[in-house]
Amino acid sequence: MGELRVAIVGFGKIARDQHVPAIAATPGVTLAAVASRNASLPGLPHFATIEELLQDGPEIDAVALCTPPQVRRQQAVAALKAGKHVMLEKPPGAAVTELDPLIALAAEQRRTLFATWHSRYAPAVEPARAWLAERRITRVQINWKEDVRVWHPGQSWIWEPGGLGVFDPGINALSILTRILPARVFVTAAELSFPSNRAAPIAADLTLTDTSGLPIAAAFDFRQTGPQSWDIIVDTESEQLVLSRGGARMAAGGQTLVEAPDEEYPGLYRRFVELATDGSSDVDLLPLQLVADAFLLGSRHIVEPFED
Ligand code: NAP
Repeated sequence: MGELRVAIVGFGKIARDQHVPAIAATPGVTLAAVASRNASLPGLPHFATIEELLQDGPEIDAVALCTPPQVRRQQAVAALKAGKHVMLEKPPGAAVTELDPLIALAAEQRRTLFATWHSRYAPAVEPARAWLAERRITRVQINWKEDVRVWHPGQSWIWEPGGLGVFDPGINALSILTRILPARVFVTAAELSFPSNRAAPIAADLTLTDTSGLPIAAAFDFRQTGPQSWDIIVDTESEQLVLSRGGARMAAGGQTLVEAPDEEYPGLYRRFVELATDGSSDVDLLPLQLVADAFLLGSRHIVEPFED
């Protein structure tokens, strides 16, 4: 296969911050066009919608859908039907059940559907998985607390149905958790805090476990000011593992074992190129299923209104 010519659809924060530099840094991928209603990139063909891109745009092989989750399914259908490979930003959808028909369509079209979990490509995640595989785990605590005003300024979609609220970052922690633990986990209880004027939670406390009864707790909060935390702490029979900075740093027994700069998105694009060479798909729904179960099992609390 030659260069994978990719168009970015939905040119917002993640497209600018990560996709553009990652494409530029990855051999075998070229940015060929942008489709976004209000944004463009100088020097590149621009279209307001994915339909216009597919109809009038330059030759492309793939699209990277960087729009909010609520609108991605329809865009993915349009792209797959036009014979394009599809990279989905996380979360892969606004609902769990919308994904199976997409997976089937990709298979039918012999095109790649890649549901990305960027946090799994953080440098300490695979080392943590390998380290934990050799030890008996006794407890897990996730602390994922960030200031929504800093990280998601003006992103109204995050507060709408399907926008996930605090689970938008929280699902990243769950994507790491489900990668580093050897056994499959499930949710047993959740406490969800909804601002009185919003349709999505601003904070969530989850209780999870596995078939051996491992205690796992997750605290997600969008109201954090001051120091931010993206930490997973795993107690084992011997030392404690601390995976911090969203998976960029790993320490065990008080010693730093991995500390490396962020390389998540170049990793995603390398994987996308690999998948697209034979049109295979990579879709793991487990993190989204855990979030859906938190909504199913969650006790709801109404908290003070949130204004951006
Ligand atoms: P964003 O800044 O709001 O960008 C999304 C873009 O999609 C918007 O700028 C908008 O561009 C377009 N869009 C919005 N609503 C649309 C609609 N109804 N129909 C069509 N296009 C629409 O959001 P983001 O932070 O980049 O997040 C996008 C996705 O990436 C989310 O799923 C998020 O979870 C994921 N992500 C974000 C981050 C992060 O740090 N921000 C990190 C990792 C992953 P136009 O107005 O020009 O159409």
